[in-house]
This record gives sequence, structure tokens and C-alpha cells, in this order.
Amino acid sequence: MLVADRRYMNHFAGRVHPERPARIAAMIEMIEGLKRSELKHSAPREASIEELALCHSEKYVATVERTATCDRTDFDPDTHASAETWATARLAAGGVLTAVEAVLDGAADNAFAIVRPPGHHALPQRAMGFCFFNNIAIAASWLVKVRGMQRVLILDWDVHHGNGTQDIFYESPEVLYMSTHQYPFYPGTGWLDQIGSGAGIGFTVNAPMPATFGDTEYLRVFDRLLLPIARQFKPEFVLISAGFDCHFRDPLGGMRITEDGFLAMTQRLQRLADECCEGRMVAALEGGYDLQALAQCGRAVINELGKDGDEHITAAKDGVRAMPIIQRASYFLRDYWQIGPDGD
Ligand SMILES: [Zn+2]
Repeated sequence: MLVADRRYMNHFAGRVHPERPARIAAMIEMIEGLKRSELKHSAPREASIEELALCHSEKYVATVERTATCDRTDFDPDTHASAETWATARLAAGGVLTAVEAVLDGAADNAFAIVRPPGHHALPQRAMGFCFFNNIAIAASWLVKVRGMQRVLILDWDVHHGNGTQDIFYESPEVLYMSTHQYPFYPGTGWLDQIGSGAGIGFTVNAPMPATFGDTEYLRVFDRLLLPIARQFKPEFVLISAGFDCHFRDPLGGMRITEDGFLAMTQRLQRLADECCEGRMVAALEGGYDLQALAQCGRAVINELGKDGDEHITAAKDGVRAMPIIQRASYFLRDYWQIGPDGD
């Protein structure tokens, strides 16, 4: 199922801002070109104030609400609200909830919520990095606190580290947060030694990678580090922070993922969800700033979500440049998960 809506174009971050309404237009145009009549569509609902407050302070929620009375509010040098931002950001958080509800209720096997503004940099009390409310974290908290789930996986392949999501669940064993990201890079967090704390120790897994890594390195990290841990965790629901700014053509990121790479990552996560939780999986759009790449990657993910999951997957043998990262991550996580010397 797809959750998409032209109202996601209403938030305006400023002239010459990469996180622009045309991103949604490009995705909707791509969807309309798919001509797949069996693909269900659903309109998003708005998240309630209580749902936003699952991850954000009431004071901060009220601060964002007040921006609706101003033409422009600057939260940081990259993050600007227009009068329509409050409504659009509520619709973004609500769109991921719409997708999650549809999958839980059996109306869809899996879903892709094509939303903006993105969410994974948003902190409990602060907007940053183009993000206002942490859409994926609100969905994960909702699954835990409202639906009583005990194990929710968030896999974040956006080129940037999802510092907001990591922060929100840093002490939580119910939500396993895993991120592949360019490092060093914005926002500066996500080193290997950040593995959670308190009851949540071991439930944050970071794979920081240098620029120029591509499909083979990412798939090796998936096969030798992330998926072995995810299988031990046995998620009841799989959420993807699907940013496409690690595509080789993206103007902000320095990674080299292709459409085939996104397809292969989606395929692996779908297989994981099939094994652990009857295929329950929702992807939510985060970054991705080259419009053509965005649409092509979105199409790759959608095509994979529509399949029955019987294809054979060969474990990645290439991508040896990723081995030192896998080995070092395994070292930091050795007390919490069983991972082999090369992660297998
Ligand atoms: Zn990003």
C-alpha cells in the first residue's frame, strides 16, 4: 500500500532549499506512471497532539503549532517553517501511522509512506536538519505504547545518521535502532561506540561508513552485521527510515548506492519481516534530493514491496572495504549479540 498526498507539498522550507515540494511531485508522478491497478492507495490522517507527544515534549509541540501564525520561523540554519508546516508535519507523522495501522489491521501486507517533511533528525524538544516531528519514532512508540509491542526494529539507511531517532530510543530495549550512514558527516553522531545505555544498551547499532561506499559494501554490512542482529532480536514490526540521499546522484550525500542496491536492501528486510513478523513492514520517506534518483529509488522499493518474497538471495561476498567496520561494530556489540568474526 502507498500513502501519498499532494498536501505534503504545502510545507515550504525556503527558496533554494533541497527539501522542497517538488520531491513529493516527483514521487506522485512516478506512482501515476506505474499503472499498477492492484497497488492500494490511502490518504494520510493527521497525528493527534497525544501521538506527537509520544516522542516530543508538549512545550515543543506547542512551539511548532505557533509557527502556523507566521510566514516563516527559523529553527536552525537549515530548518525553516512556513505557515503550512505545522499541518504538513502532523500529516507526515500521521501518514506513517496510517501505513502502520493498515498493515496491523491486515488491510495491506506492507506499505510505503511517502511523506515530508522528513523526521529522523527531530529531537524530543528540537527541530533540526529539515525535520520537525520524528515520524518513524512516533510510529515505533505508538506500536510499543499503544499497541503493546515489545520488539520494533527501525532500519535507517538515509545517508545521514538519524540522531533524533537514536536519542529517543537510546535507553529503550523495545526499539532496536540500526543505522547505516556516511561518517564523518552531518549531524556528527552515530559512531560505533554509540550502542545505547541503561536498559537499552545493545539496542542501538551504528554502521558509520566513509563516502564512496556503494551497493556491495552496504549489502555486506546488511548480511554480516545488521541482519544477524535483527534475526536475534526477532522484531514484531519492521520500520524503514528510507532516505534516498545515499544514491550516487544525490547532491548532498557522497555514497554510491544504485536503484538495484535499494531493491536488494528492501528485499532483505522484507525477507526478515516474513521470517519474524508475517511480513509486517512499513517504509517512510526521509531524505533524497535528486528528483530523478528519488523517483527511481522509490519505484525500486515499491516494486520489491509488491512481490511475494520467494526470490533467492545470495549473501554478499564483495564489498570487502566494509569488513573493518563490521569487525569493529561486532567488537562493541559482542556482549549483546552473537556475531561471527566477519559478522556471520
Ligand atoms: Zn538524509
